[in-house]
Amino acid sequence: MFFHVILATDCNLQCRYCFGESLDDFDEDFSDDLEVDYSLPRSLAYDVDSLKNFCSKDPDCVLTFYGGEPLLQMKSLRQIMDTIEPKLYMLQTNGLLLDKLDSKYVNRFHTILVSVDGEETLTDYYRGKDTFRKVFENLKFIKQNGFNGELIARATVMEQTDIYKQVRWLLENSEFPFTSVHWQLNAGFWGNDYHRRNFVEWSESNYISGVRALVKFWVDTMEQRGTVLKLYPILGIAYSMLHDEAVNFLRCGGGWVNYAIQTDGYILACPTMWGMTKHYLGHIADSHPLKLEKVFVNQLPCSDCEFLNMCGGRCYYANVTQRWSVDDYKKVCNTVKALIDDVSVEIPRIKQLIVQGKICLSDFDFVKYNGAEIIP
Ligand code: SF4
Ligand code: SF4
Repeated sequence: MFFHVILATDCNLQCRYCFGESLDDFDEDFSDDLEVDYSLPRSLAYDVDSLKNFCSKDPDCVLTFYGGEPLLQMKSLRQIMDTIEPKLYMLQTNGLLLDKLDSKYVNRFHTILVSVDGEETLTDYYRGKDTFRKVFENLKFIKQNGFNGELIARATVMEQTDIYKQVRWLLENSEFPFTSVHWQLNAGFWGNDYHRRNFVEWSESNYISGVRALVKFWVDTMEQRGTVLKLYPILGIAYSMLHDEAVNFLRCGGGWVNYAIQTDGYILACPTMWGMTKHYLGHIADSHPLKLEKVFVNQLPCSDCEFLNMCGGRCYYANVTQRWSVDDYKKVCNTVKALIDDVSVEIPRIKQLIVQGKICLSDFDFVKYNGAEIIP
């Protein structure tokens, strides 16, 4: 099992798609049947030994530090890493404080997902002036200090992003080229942003065609260089198609193999659902990690969608909160369906490259549920 350990609810950035949107959305509350406990402790409020005890019941326990910004609570992070030996440690961070964590801890991470949206002007536009420079300095720093795990650029994308250009830039820039890239749409997270944004126009004029171009580029790279790039949204879908895998569960793993542990020890399907008391699935003090309730997306529009067995329902949080209306959310689904179609078109070419020996089926393997949600 995978567990996002929420170490902090605070963040040291004020990104447009997170803090900025929350300001624009301040009068938009969740529906009445979603009670939210906003008084969660800002840092770890349970005994690390109880997390140790919980984790020890699962030989495949993977702990991923998450926030807010988890590195704001470095003392708790170190305490956990000094106390618990899970199968793997991972970290999801904005990268600003990576240079402050001793390399003996950094180098134990199997995977670090770092929030970078693309080139400097775009990243700083979304995340604040000078963010890009500091994060890239820190990435070079941890590499020089021996970090050899997987480093995933995790981009949040919305209207200012030219997806094709930015993903290519993340892969090919001369300063710090990434070998793994994941992106997630800022869509369906907030209550009143749909009508003040241009999501539909952007997704139809840039995003969908950009992703199609990326899929073609991805397979061209296999053909020309024999390399299967870790572009997670494309890779995850291609993996399923190549393995005849139908998924009727969330591809992020949320609520069936990937859970979140709040700062007070309560367990949820997804870290973005913190405080939603009706969706608590247990507490680390008295739950067994292998016996947690499993939750699935089982309501409209997903329940009668022909793409469900490849999409998996996209996002449990979006499904539960329904912040965008069903009709508005269908515009997000159009992007998902286009991505699935685009990958499907390329599967015969990929199979031919495998037969020709240019690539192997095992080149598509990846650590599932590592925090890359697959469906953007
Ligand atoms: S494409 Fe949309 S409706 Fe279909 S399964 Fe995915 S999220 Fe649900
Ligand atoms: S896709 Fe949705 S449910 Fe899954 S981890 Fe992301 S926000 Fe949570």
